[in-house]
Amino acid sequence: APNIWWVRRDLRLHDNPALLAATGEHLTGEAGKHPVLAVFVIDDALMGPAGKPRHDYLMTSLARLDAAIGGSLLLVHGTPENVLPQLATTIGAAGVHIATDYGPYGSQRDERVAEALGDVELVRSGSPYAVAPGRVTKDDGSPYKVYTPFGRAWEKHGWRDAAPFPAHVTWVDPDDVDLGRLVRRDLPDPAEGHPRAGEEAARKRWEEFRTDAVAEYGTERDRPDHEGTSQLSAALKWGELHPRTLLADLARKRTDGAAVFRSELAWREFYADVLWQDPASARESLRDVVADDVWIGGDDERHALDAWAAGRTGYPFVDAGMRQLAETGWMHNRVRMVVASFLVKDLHVRWQAGARHFMLHLVDGDLASNSHNWQWVAGTGTDAAPFFRIFNPVTQGVKFDPQGDYVRRWVPELRGVTGKAVHEPWKLDAQPAGYPERMIDHKQEREVTLEAYGRR
Ligand code: FAD
Repeated sequence: APNIWWVRRDLRLHDNPALLAATGEHLTGEAGKHPVLAVFVIDDALMGPAGKPRHDYLMTSLARLDAAIGGSLLLVHGTPENVLPQLATTIGAAGVHIATDYGPYGSQRDERVAEALGDVELVRSGSPYAVAPGRVTKDDGSPYKVYTPFGRAWEKHGWRDAAPFPAHVTWVDPDDVDLGRLVRRDLPDPAEGHPRAGEEAARKRWEEFRTDAVAEYGTERDRPDHEGTSQLSAALKWGELHPRTLLADLARKRTDGAAVFRSELAWREFYADVLWQDPASARESLRDVVADDVWIGGDDERHALDAWAAGRTGYPFVDAGMRQLAETGWMHNRVRMVVASFLVKDLHVRWQAGARHFMLHLVDGDLASNSHNWQWVAGTGTDAAPFFRIFNPVTQGVKFDPQGDYVRRWVPELRGVTGKAVHEPWKLDAQPAGYPERMIDHKQEREVTLEAYGRR
């Protein structure tokens, strides 16, 4: 009987245990034993009103997966608990194969789907992580609350080898499936769209990064004016690459850069674990650290959020980051920390509002990594930077974008300013045309924040 491969965050053919299980190859050793119908469900609850880069990235990646399997990906719009049972009945599927989703929405959705499928089994193989959430625990079985001991235990726990590439898959042609009332969606042209999207582009990028750049990663990773990081976060988020693949390649590299890179992958797994242990931490602060009356609200908050989102705060390093996000759906990690700190500690807007904006626009927007990095910056999370540590948007810019190249790249109004002077346009003889005045004074707002912190 055929199986359904329900694709979610695993848009790849390499190292994909769920796909292998759908073909039956892993059990019988017989290639292509079961025909496979590949399905992606566009679920409004998850896609929501995503920003353009985020939406385009996913659509392009789906189109490239479809091209890689000879046009056999079925894209349908609807709720998974309606779509999958209907398809399973129509094609007489034996099972629906997935990688386990540990997120709060995804895990509940999968429970609903399993129930709606009745006798057709929902089979879970693998997860988006090298080590699935819940597996790394202290000796007494309780979860780690801070990163460093988690990271050590995670390394010690280890992970499986990569799953083999499927020897042969007999794809079910979606054109032969009677869709009844289900709404099929077209895929865009795979030759167009986001240049980095899709498994092939992700594998190529990884190849370049690990041969040319990973050795220098330890020092280069903080420089937004250089391409010192892998820019693979969206590929990891959508499962175009599995972290196990990266870890296996890194095992042969003994450089400091490789070790730091591995520790970043461990952060990703740590935050997935924290979210799984405490799903409410996606929206609620793990700790209250500041007097509540520091937060602005209403129109003031809307105004602050709008200026921040548009990259018009008057602080060039912050504005460059927010414009990079708006244009590309990605932002360098150093700058993410600075813009997040600015929103929470200079503009006095709760981290949740910033996190929501990031989720709509980031191509790599991931609930666990996003919420917990925001909590880290806000000082409310696990290994939080203490609330009194407040990023200075000017000195951060001068230190990590020393020639100002990053700012000039993203803020055209400042292209006429040479060197690091671009970080403090208010010190120039005249404010560059079209660039806004500073909306707040960092020194002053820093005091407001510290005072509210002291009162808690
Ligand atoms: P690299 O430096 O090449 O790192 C390699 C991989 O390690 C990344 O692709 C990512 O998967 C993982 N990683 C690196 N840093 C972190 C980290 N601090 N936490 C968790 N994983 C990490 N990352 C997301 O993937 N999705 C998000 O929604 C997200 N939101 C963030 C929000 C804020 C406020 C901050 C400060 C950070 C956020 N990050 C998020 C973490 C980090 O900024 C990005 O993973 C990184 O910038 C991606 O670029 P890269 O692939 O070049 O990273």
